[in-house]
Amino acid sequence: MKGYAMLRIGETGWIEKERPACGPNDAIIKPLAISPCTSDVHTVWEGALGERHNMILGHEGCGVVDEVGSNVKDFKVGDRIMVAAITPDWDSIAAQAGYPMHSGGMLGGWKFSNFKDGVFGEYFHVNDADGNLAFLPDNISPAEACMLSDMVPTGFHGVELADVQFGDVVLVIGIGPVGLMSVAAANLRGASRIIGVGTRPNCIEVAKKYGATDIISYKEGDIADQALELTNGEGVDKVIVAGGGVETFETAVRAVKPGGTIGNVNYLGDGDFVTVPRVEWGVGMGHKTITGGLMPGGRNRLQKLGSLVSSGRLDVSLMLTHKFDGFDHIEEALFLMKDKPRDLIKPVVTL
Ligand code: NDP
Ligand code: ZN
Repeated sequence: MKGYAMLRIGETGWIEKERPACGPNDAIIKPLAISPCTSDVHTVWEGALGERHNMILGHEGCGVVDEVGSNVKDFKVGDRIMVAAITPDWDSIAAQAGYPMHSGGMLGGWKFSNFKDGVFGEYFHVNDADGNLAFLPDNISPAEACMLSDMVPTGFHGVELADVQFGDVVLVIGIGPVGLMSVAAANLRGASRIIGVGTRPNCIEVAKKYGATDIISYKEGDIADQALELTNGEGVDKVIVAGGGVETFETAVRAVKPGGTIGNVNYLGDGDFVTVPRVEWGVGMGHKTITGGLMPGGRNRLQKLGSLVSSGRLDVSLMLTHKFDGFDHIEEALFLMKDKPRDLIKPVVTL
């Protein structure tokens, strides 16, 4: 089969590979749509996972079941399915402990385009099919379903990590597609005010549609200073970090109130340390919680998040700015994600 792969750090191209083998608990999927992610860019051009050779890229997609293993109970050939970017081993100790995303070691639930070939192939493999697939509702298009693989669950997890409550004032640092989904999730959770941080006009417009009440530009001064000014010096209740570098932690700690929580879903690509400002952290006693995590994945979560889209409570189509038709456009879509033209939010390829 044909696939679009990372050949080595900094280099991508089309390759031929064997169709993946289906174990007893697994499924083989023929994709209906795929979407490249900022994480694919980190993987290839920043070597975020270390060296990988001829590994098919991609972890955002949906498709049709082409084969199932003998132990798979709920899915059969021909079913249209969604699948999350993170596909844990649900019988692992880590999953039983409540951290399925770390089954098989830290971040071990992230298998696609990490430990095995990803979804940018004519077929892809899903482990633990009953636990990791979900039926694709008829009124969700394949392109929209791709947003349920990663952008929705990751952005929403940021809001879970930050523990957003009714009436909270929330700062969302970064309003690319992940941050936009944090804005939407904070709004669904009943935030009273949502301050988004970003500069791309398209993202700002869509952030306002998802519920952002204020926008800050990180290019026009310190984020924390601007957030403090907007809140009469009080600070915000919760911060979600979905963009920027390691320096965002310093900003987030300064911007959040005592008792507040910072939830990070951003990939921290540079530097050896994250710095926490001593005084603004209450000299160690400020009750400012810092947390960060990979989204959990799994069928239950996919079904629930999918129901928000199928019921019309969440419109993910606002993020789909660049649409392509046909397998051959995968390369173009990935390079768009790398070059990030200012009108881009998310590219998607329907197959
Ligand atoms: P984008 O690059 O599309 O968006 C990044 C956002 O951060 C933009 O709004 C950008 O603003 C803003 N930004 C850039 N620099 C700064 C800065 N110095 N200070 C504050 N904001 C800044 O990324 P995505 O939304 O696609 O992804 C966000 C992050 O989430 C990535 O690092 C990605 O790897 C990670 N991720 C994590 C996952 C997880 O499971 N934890 C899963 C998927 C992604 P501007 O408008 O100027 O561009
Ligand atoms: Zn992704």
